[in-house]
Amino acid sequence: MNIHEYQAKAILKEYGAPVSRGIPAFTPDEAEKAAHELGGPVWVVKSQIHAGGRGKGKFKELPADAKGGVRVVKSVQDVKASAQEMLGNTLVTIQTGEAGKQVNRLYIEEGAAIDKEFYLSMLIDRVTSRVAFVVSTEGGMDIEDVAHSTPEKIVTFSVDPATGIQPLHGRKVAKALNLSGDLAKQAEALVKQLYAAFTDKDMAMLEINPLVVTNDGKLKVLDAKVSFDSNAIYRHPEVAALRDETEEDAKEIEASKYDLSYIALDGSIGCMVNGAGLAMATMDIIKLYGAEPANFLDVGGGATKERVTAAFKIITADPAVKGILVNIFGGIMRCDVIADGVIAAVKEVGLKVPLVVRLEGTNVEAGKKLISESGLNVIAADDLDDAAQKIVKAVKEAA
Ligand code: GDP
Ligand code: MN
Repeated sequence: MNIHEYQAKAILKEYGAPVSRGIPAFTPDEAEKAAHELGGPVWVVKSQIHAGGRGKGKFKELPADAKGGVRVVKSVQDVKASAQEMLGNTLVTIQTGEAGKQVNRLYIEEGAAIDKEFYLSMLIDRVTSRVAFVVSTEGGMDIEDVAHSTPEKIVTFSVDPATGIQPLHGRKVAKALNLSGDLAKQAEALVKQLYAAFTDKDMAMLEINPLVVTNDGKLKVLDAKVSFDSNAIYRHPEVAALRDETEEDAKEIEASKYDLSYIALDGSIGCMVNGAGLAMATMDIIKLYGAEPANFLDVGGGATKERVTAAFKIITADPAVKGILVNIFGGIMRCDVIADGVIAAVKEVGLKVPLVVRLEGTNVEAGKKLISESGLNVIAADDLDDAAQKIVKAVKEAA
């Protein structure tokens, strides 16, 4: 689960980390009020969306030479004018995709005078099963580019959970950033604070880009992107309360109501599969035959007719879906239940794209019979290979 920058900064502040003073705003009037309260003389008006690259982003509705989604301004009037331009408009950044994201919230911050920009992030390193730090002097730009062109400028290390965070970790960060004296001390303190926040709150990722040194020699968290381990959210109701559903895929929210593991993707073939492993294999084989899956969907082992119906409706509601592949290996899941669910869903919402069904396992004959007697226009398949080829072919022919 992701949260907004201003929410992330509020959490880091609780742990003592240095952030600028700031106030969230939902309307131009609130932005103006926030600007008065902060006092100036420099403010930063920051679009709050769950995506990075806002500074260099472009608003769809504004002229191409208009400023981006993070603006440094020098008057209350300009705070309000920027708020008016940003709120309700669609910001497109390298992380949002072409569709962009509508800006519904702003964060008005006291502007900082920047001397240097660094990069610092923390994540769970799956190889070592530890919390890892990634640090670089090359802040303010895409870390992927730094990793590609100057990998030697990135320092990483992980923390042994048995000892926890130690002064040596702080010294490593200070050294990686070429900091000495008081700034090194500030970095060491920050590392401790960030580690505490990360582990207490079950974060999955914390990215500070940039971490800056201000003109008056202070280390400051200028941007913060945090995501949490969804499996641990139940332990943190205060984190769950920060969820902004307008930032999430509507189809994924609907799926979560029915306990379906659903992830929207960019392709054209909707998949309904039981079992995560089979779902992955199905996506792979669709790619092998030259098409792209529109989603990952695991209906689970003990799915009811209602869940199958809901799953099918979510798939068909996606306008990008040009064909559907149902691939069920009935173990605990019974093929006749799947057939019932698919038939019920089609009766409700209709079927405008080709549908290939491959059923195997428990009650397969009953399932096949239900479908063949339903009058549905279904292309039957014998195995996974056959099914993938058939749906890719049907979609190509329909196009
Ligand atoms: P992002 O583009 O989504 O990563 O948003 P950031 O919060 O990182 O802001 C983009 C850029 O705006 C930063 O890299 C800074 O260069 C600049 N910026 C952000 N806040 C301030 C500030 O307080 N003062 C100044 N001078 N620049 C800022
Ligand atoms: Mn940033």
